[in-house]
Amino acid sequence: MPDVPTESLAQSAYDLDLEMALVLPSATPASWGASVHEAARILVDRPWGRRNSLSVSELHTLSLLLFARTYTGDREPGDVPVAELREALNGPVDREPPIRDEIDHALTETGQGYDSEAFRSTPLWSIYLAVQNRYGNYGGSPLADDVAPPTPGPSPMRLAAISLAQFFADYTAPNDTRTTAPQVAPGPLVVQADLLQMVSANSVVRIRCSCGDLVRSLRVDGPTAVRECVQGHASVHWQLDAARVRVAVARATGVRPSSQGSHRFPKLMIVEAELPRHTDPTQANVYLRPASTPLVGRDDILRKLSQIHDRG
Ligand SMILES: [Zn+2]
Repeated sequence: MPDVPTESLAQSAYDLDLEMALVLPSATPASWGASVHEAARILVDRPWGRRNSLSVSELHTLSLLLFARTYTGDREPGDVPVAELREALNGPVDREPPIRDEIDHALTETGQGYDSEAFRSTPLWSIYLAVQNRYGNYGGSPLADDVAPPTPGPSPMRLAAISLAQFFADYTAPNDTRTTAPQVAPGPLVVQADLLQMVSANSVVRIRCSCGDLVRSLRVDGPTAVRECVQGHASVHWQLDAARVRVAVARATGVRPSSQGSHRFPKLMIVEAELPRHTDPTQANVYLRPASTPLVGRDDILRKLSQIHDRG
């Protein structure tokens, strides 16, 4: 198996094409894919990297806004004038942006809202919920029931709208039509492995479904990673993150983390959601990490110990 250098994954694990793949599930209205690609084209020169979560929120917010303005099919996302985007984002900065309501409406109108019959979010609704969430990420905390309810703060969408308004204040659409974003095809990444392991800083465990059955297949589609166990149950778990599955496949094969397709491995290790995306499991885990100092001088130590023992 190719061993992809950690240095290149440290960048590609946060590149624009992976951020696009994470918001391009296979079953969405046609205008969604076009909205994401147009938002990416506009934002292609923003800083993309590990410490630039604001750029990701901008991509989500602008994609959702372009979708809300074009889902009826009267025009393409690329036809929305910059002046219109500037005006939509130029609202008051001391409250949640007004575009939130029109995005909510557009998602509901297109069947991409909360699925109240199946009791679950559609992929686009999940993307929307995350970017307009004002309470941070408390989802997986074992303390969630014990701490006082947090005070709501500005959502990532609000911060992105402020930042985008500043960006569009100086933005002129490039005359050069060669300015292009990465092209990312929507579609799932499917992983099959005899041994699938979840790695944290101090544990390595086989991935199992909620019923305890072994999982030998993972399906990543847009923002979601689904476990499929040997009994055929499909389930999600907050520690199993779509981006980290993609980076694990990239590390094992050398493909870009944004790639689609199917891969089969004897064994694949995936880091938990709490570790940074690009983390190498064999370096981050205390049991997998090579000893920091080589075991030289052991013969010498043993000789001294035996001398001490002999003296005793
Ligand atoms: Zn099961």
